[in-house]
Amino acid sequence: MAELISVLLFYKYVRIKNPEAFREEHLKILNEFNLKGRVLVAEEGINGAVSGTKESTEQYKRCMHSIPGFSDVHFKETEAKSHPFRKTQVKIKKEIVASGLYDKVDVNDAGIHLEPAEFRKMIEDDEDTVVLDMRNDYEYKVGRFRGAVQIGTENFREFTAKVSHFDEFKGRNILMYCTGGVRCEKASAYFRQKGFKNVFQLKGGIMNYCRQFPDDLFEGACFTFDSRLLIPASKNSKVLKCEICSSECDSYINCRNVHCDKLFVCCDGCRRKLGGCCSEGCGAEIEGI
Ligand SMILES: [Zn+2]
Ligand SMILES: [Zn+2]
Repeated sequence: MAELISVLLFYKYVRIKNPEAFREEHLKILNEFNLKGRVLVAEEGINGAVSGTKESTEQYKRCMHSIPGFSDVHFKETEAKSHPFRKTQVKIKKEIVASGLYDKVDVNDAGIHLEPAEFRKMIEDDEDTVVLDMRNDYEYKVGRFRGAVQIGTENFREFTAKVSHFDEFKGRNILMYCTGGVRCEKASAYFRQKGFKNVFQLKGGIMNYCRQFPDDLFEGACFTFDSRLLIPASKNSKVLKCEICSSECDSYINCRNVHCDKLFVCCDGCRRKLGGCCSEGCGAEIEGI
């Protein structure tokens, strides 16, 4: 059997004075270890997802921890049967996660980080707690913490416009989470800025939680921004149903009609029947081209 590929997800908000120099140096490191994936670099820090053999990802982690300012980078690790990224890229961005807030929030004023065990305990001990999913609708749809409410975005950039919808929860504990934590750093800082007092964020996000508490409060699959699209985060995956025939399944695909490009849960049978499209209409459109 082929060796499994390790996939690392990580971020760090730290001032990078010269992103261009950092980019060049980091690309060399990725190539040296034969890693694929993408690392975003900005003056505010780095955000990356890379894949490689177990050995090379371990080397990369050690290398990263030796870079001044990065000794405490927290890596979230999952496995894949093959590289979920095709290229090796390091890109310079204005923000490491596009929120549109750039210099309008300070992540030093973010919500309190909770370890998975603390997050779990707070949900169990305080029934007034609001669990808030900061991810997009298509991510929430395929898996989420039990009882979580969704921020309601198609793109993270939209979240600031949604915050006032949650004003009634201002006196309550808000426990927010995302995939690996990078979005909640900014989102929790913004909520605090808007007068929410008790804001907490799940350290390391769903990835970290499910590693420690598999088959627990997280139900369904976790969406990933790589070719896997979904990773089964929990055996309690009953939330996942084929959107065509409603049978239980755990695969997510992009409609093959590029003009549609809809992400939808689809079983193998329906994928074959509809040729990878989300509907007969979409399939007919491709035939007609
Ligand atoms: Zn189906
Ligand atoms: Zn379609």
